[in-house]
Amino acid sequence: MVSCVSAQPIFDAHMHYSHDAWDVVPVQDVLAILKKAGVRRALISSSGDDGQQRLYRAAPEVIIPELRPYRSRSDVGTWFRGESVIPYLQERLSKFRYAGIGEFHLYGADADLPVPRRMVELARKFNLFLHAHSDIDAVERLFRQWPQARILWAHAGFERPERVAEMLKKHKNLWADLAFRTDHGSGGKVDAGWRAAFLQFPDRFMVGTDTYTPERWHYVGEHASWSRQWLSDLPRDVAERIAWKNGEQVFGSLLRPE
Ligand SMILES: [Zn+2]
Repeated sequence: MVSCVSAQPIFDAHMHYSHDAWDVVPVQDVLAILKKAGVRRALISSSGDDGQQRLYRAAPEVIIPELRPYRSRSDVGTWFRGESVIPYLQERLSKFRYAGIGEFHLYGADADLPVPRRMVELARKFNLFLHAHSDIDAVERLFRQWPQARILWAHAGFERPERVAEMLKKHKNLWADLAFRTDHGSGGKVDAGWRAAFLQFPDRFMVGTDTYTPERWHYVGEHASWSRQWLSDLPRDVAERIAWKNGEQVFGSLLRPE
């Protein structure tokens, strides 16, 4: 039992390798951490994209890059009004390949401001996922701007499982990551409300560590073990999907050579 649970690979759908982590946890250390934790692939974005490009060059079979509209940490609360954000995104998109744009923080009516609208247009042009740390209102606005958008809903919006399930039912192209929340599983048991959501939508959830500070990189192994524990309380095929198969299916083929 224990050995087969620990063998469960992990697709980590919510990681960051931002500028303040590059010296603290160098590229080779990141790759060693992922390997030791059994993370077979990871969806990673960075405030300041250069570090993650180094990461991707070192291990293109492990790293799936997303383009974040933040050049530095301080852009988090202001980017959606920042005129220079779009030229920055355009410049990066012309140089590098990505699976998505995000993770970005965007709430309510701010989603309809000019900068987010132009970001969505770029995602459409380059056929990219949107990784949105957003409330329900902003997710709805993004889908209104681009009905065919594919959105990964960061932290499942920090919403209750019943609301998450409603959104997944309403939007076929919505997936949810479970990063930075613990209410769905504790002590190796899955919460009843979440169990219902996982069983209803087994192909729409992914796990994530959210390495939003450099120190969080040293938590990746522990998070993977903790994830395997609560996942083992689900039917095996559902657990496998949430642990890695969904991420692999949705993102695994997006960066194939043209
Ligand atoms: Zn994050």
